[in-house]
Amino acid sequence: MYIKKIVLKNFKSFNKKVEIPFFKGFTVISGPNGSGKSNIVDAILFCLGLTPSTRYLRADRVGDLIYSGNGKLGEAEVTVIFDNDGEEIKITRKIKRTSKGNYTYNYLNGKSVNLAEIQRLLQNFGIYSDAYNVVMQGDVTRIAEMTPFQRRKIIDDIAGISEFDEKKAKAIEE
Ligand code: ATP
Ligand code: MG
Repeated sequence: MYIKKIVLKNFKSFNKKVEIPFFKGFTVISGPNGSGKSNIVDAILFCLGLTPSTRYLRADRVGDLIYSGNGKLGEAEVTVIFDNDGEEIKITRKIKRTSKGNYTYNYLNGKSVNLAEIQRLLQNFGIYSDAYNVVMQGDVTRIAEMTPFQRRKIIDDIAGISEFDEKKAKAIEE
């Protein structure tokens, strides 16, 4: 499974609707400072619910993720389209600004769902919010400075071994 395309509408620095194609294997995004490279990563994290808080997206509140260059727009949207062996999986997350506050909405292949359902689906493909599917700025330094035991834990997480260690510990306890 890989990301085939992302579509941004009024997300952060992306005014209007922007479509970004990705390639199977490896995609590099380059551009001048402040041109929106990290905002693309933020869009993916936001859409897939991979961050515990908007702080990781460099925003105080969810409303700050809406493009702000045009007065106060009411809506932003990110869609991530996966190619799963030729089958398309389309995940959308929308932000709406209202007088009562900001709300987010999630869709799976156009159908309204809650974020937990999306996270459950992604977990089937080994994408977890607390794993190292996304290596953020500063993570590499942090990993290099860890103790060997802490580093081993990350490798176990990625390999899917931790899950069995947890089950084993639980079984021994019982
Ligand atoms: P660098 O190479 O320095 O890491 P970058 O390409 O990763 O740069 P980003 O951090 O993605 O750049 O983009 C930063 C820009 O996004 C800033 O100019 C900031 O003003 C703009 N930006 C962030 N949020 C919004 C928003 N809600 N509305 C409009 N612009 C925004
Ligand atoms: Mg950046």
